[in-house]
Amino acid sequence: MRMKSEREAVVEYGMKLVPAGLTTGTGGNISVLDRASGVVAISPSAMDYARIGAEDVVLVDLDGKVVEGSRKPSTETPLHLAVYRVKPEIGAVVHTHPAYSTTVACLGWEIPAMHYLVGFSGHKVPLAPYATYGSDDLARLTAAAIGPHNAVLMANHGLLTVGKDVASAFTVSEIVELMARVYLQAKAVGEPRLLSPTQMDDVLLHFGSYGQAR
Ligand code: 13P
Ligand code: ZN
Repeated sequence: MRMKSEREAVVEYGMKLVPAGLTTGTGGNISVLDRASGVVAISPSAMDYARIGAEDVVLVDLDGKVVEGSRKPSTETPLHLAVYRVKPEIGAVVHTHPAYSTTVACLGWEIPAMHYLVGFSGHKVPLAPYATYGSDDLARLTAAAIGPHNAVLMANHGLLTVGKDVASAFTVSEIVELMARVYLQAKAVGEPRLLSPTQMDDVLLHFGSYGQAR
């Protein structure tokens, strides 16, 4: 089996989506890219995450052609591929429908720098315009909207996050969902006070050294 560890990562993190409150049912999709071969391991379309095994994960090339696998790849394969094309530094994409992030996206809002953890995305979480799920338009508009950020809200749809690997893309999803909840709660009773671009630059600088030294 080709790309066994990448397939297993898609399965492992797929199983965490529903318990983490990041999606419901078969919504959302996960992919991992092996840059050396230009092959992407992506979740199969419309399958219960609890039932997906490594053999169900589909391998596609960067043009979307199936390289290995008997399942139909995610309908959002064009979306994942478009994001890999504009972000050469990333190795994984996670797309979900989390309740609070999706609420912000349905309001047509971005998430501004109202908390330092917004830094997991960048200076904000931008918003991509609406287009039909699975469409080339959605892929193009979302890839254009993410810019230098690690996350983008998708209008009237959900959230997409990226990372060097699936663990970090998943963490960004969880943190953006927390940020969306805090933002909506703050907006419900007042106007959140924003951090300045300089304060956010400082946060991003500190994130570079956050974590345990090995
Ligand atoms: P798939 O089941 O085809 O991956 O689609 C789910 C989804 O979230 C569409 O936007
Ligand atoms: Zn979706």
